[in-house]
Amino acid sequence: MARRGNSIIKGLDINDIITRLNKAYADEWLAYYQYFIEAKVVKGIMKDAAIAELDQHAADELRHANMVADRILQLGGTPLLNPKDWFTHTNCGYEEPKDFDVVSILEDSIKGEQCAISIYSELADFTRNKDIVTYDIVSQILADEVEHEEDLQALHDDITDFITDIKKKTN
Ligand code: FE
Ligand code: FE
Ligand code: MG
Repeated sequence: MARRGNSIIKGLDINDIITRLNKAYADEWLAYYQYFIEAKVVKGIMKDAAIAELDQHAADELRHANMVADRILQLGGTPLLNPKDWFTHTNCGYEEPKDFDVVSILEDSIKGEQCAISIYSELADFTRNKDIVTYDIVSQILADEVEHEEDLQALHDDITDFITDIKKKTN
């Protein structure tokens, strides 16, 4: 890796950056699939609003996987080649939907976003002033993950408020 693009990285082991990015890469694929399948199986009140949000987030996670894979390749690494490796490298794991109710699906996804926010925040701290290009990419992804958490939490709160209102009216 004698490229000029990699010579500007200061004080970090490139293999260490690649290892961390591959862990984030595994997270993104698992997050993508989690949203994909949640949008298919979700049931209950206001589920159409939830499906729109879950589908949009699935597309974002796949875009993140692309961004991370491209950066791993630029650094001279190889993105994980086998989906089996996603489970051994992931930071945030995979929350299999067990209860398909919209509120529980949203709660599973919020947990995932909170983990993603912690991981990208750590990656930003790790690369700040040392690997500017990776820093820029992880900062963009971090901003998306913060937006994801907010969108899901707002929808979750709207739905639970609505359910509370209905219960009050029927009592
Ligand atoms: Fe993501
Ligand atoms: Fe996300
Ligand atoms: Mg959204």
